[in-house]
Amino acid sequence: MNCKKLLFVAGLLLTAVVFTVQADDFTERRERMVEAQLAARGIEDPATLEAMGTVPRHEFVPRAQRHRAYADRPVPIGHGQTISQPYIVAYMTELLELEEGQRVLEIGTGSGYQAAVLAEIIDQVYTIEIIEELAEFGGGNLLRNGYDEVQVKHADGYYGWKEHAPFDAIMVTAAAAHIPPPLVEQLKDGGVMVIPVGHPFQTQQLMRVEKKDGEVTTESLMAVRFVPLTRDED
Ligand code: SAH
Repeated sequence: MNCKKLLFVAGLLLTAVVFTVQADDFTERRERMVEAQLAARGIEDPATLEAMGTVPRHEFVPRAQRHRAYADRPVPIGHGQTISQPYIVAYMTELLELEEGQRVLEIGTGSGYQAAVLAEIIDQVYTIEIIEELAEFGGGNLLRNGYDEVQVKHADGYYGWKEHAPFDAIMVTAAAAHIPPPLVEQLKDGGVMVIPVGHPFQTQQLMRVEKKDGEVTTESLMAVRFVPLTRDED
């Protein structure tokens, strides 16, 4: 082997080692996140914990933010939007009490991370994003990481996704001024929706909405801070 070839092979080996070390590092950070941020704060649902421990969150944030992917806070994803803090993702996922064979609708695809967490638990995941570039970013992240069964649509999620309704569960990941009636309509009887409701750029209340025997009940769970649910005419 001549010197150039040797250097080339050495370079390849080094790159492989760096990638492996990096991947292990992210796995470790993810395990720590599940322990310290989720289990320690009361997230109990095994399916949620397993999903959070599986989805490579660092693959869903912009490259420059990778080192912060597993931190205990939201991470910017561009266009003024953020991927929620891991605890909030887990808390909202657990609230849906998902079971195999169910169908879920998410409003606010963003990075695609929340949709990936849902897709680890059930097969039928639908997600809507109003910003075209983010629909592409989130959709691309989902595809690249093998979540190709998740259906992504670029639209105003206020109106839901009628063709695939009713949904067993609906999760809104942007703050709405009120609970959108089309979403309540597209919720199956016995279904649950979680949605932050309140004024934009202030704290909002995370609400659990349940439909049972045609009756809709709402419950305030905790104060949260989400980016606003925008409308097409905004
Ligand atoms: N769930 C995302 C983060 C959500 S941030 C994740 O896991 O990364 C909130 C997202 O909701 C933003 O991407 C924002 O563009 C989107 N959004 C805001 N209003 C919307 C609407 N009316 N319909 C669909 N998406 C909306």
